[in-house]
Amino acid sequence: SIRFIPVVSRVRISLPLLSKLCKMFAELFRYHNHGLVIVTVKVFKQSKVRRMTMRVGIGYDVHKLVENRALILGGVEIPWEKGLLGHSDADVLLHAIMDALLGAAALGDIGKHFPDTDPKYKGISSIKLLEHVGALLEENGYAVENIDAVVIAQRPKLLPYIPQMAENIAKTLGLEKNQVNVKATTEEGLGFTGSGEGISSQAICSLSSMYDYSVDMTKTHPTGCAGCKGCTNKN
Ligand code: MG
Repeated sequence: SIRFIPVVSRVRISLPLLSKLCKMFAELFRYHNHGLVIVTVKVFKQSKVRRMTMRVGIGYDVHKLVENRALILGGVEIPWEKGLLGHSDADVLLHAIMDALLGAAALGDIGKHFPDTDPKYKGISSIKLLEHVGALLEENGYAVENIDAVVIAQRPKLLPYIPQMAENIAKTLGLEKNQVNVKATTEEGLGFTGSGEGISSQAICSLSSMYDYSVDMTKTHPTGCAGCKGCTNKN
């Protein structure tokens, strides 16, 4: 799979030196067995630094609490007398997060990608679905900057399970720990979460576009980076 590693430098350097640096990075990563290495570079106009495109997304989900179902939140099975009802494992937290990610990338929502009428998603782990959403973002050139989410449940106490939930989410999306935050709250006994009828979750995320770090080298540098004709050949 392709992993994007954004590197931002504000240092002004010449194009030949930039080419050399790109080649050096590519060789370094290849040396460490990272397979195919693509180095993309964003060139800013000298006096005007353009703002990076930041995209944000929001997600919201609710599932009903019923007996004889496992309670799974953030990929963690929590011992409790009831669980969430749904076509998949009904992981309300991951569903809200996936909707936020898809929303930020303008790729619709989880209903569009994983319809609950499709038998192949019956009982599926939402971690698998999150993995798929992560791959979709990469395919479309997006990198996740951060995710913040909240689970709204009267009971059980979720605090002991939160670090594991955040770790599962970060691991599935290939993120660092400090890019994912999960919180829990009650609604003070009010509404459907307060009465224990259901659990809801809200999530927000920000993405950056890989195209912000890219430039078409074929226009400015017809022979490609450090004499590599890769891009020129493709066009
Ligand atoms: Mg759902």
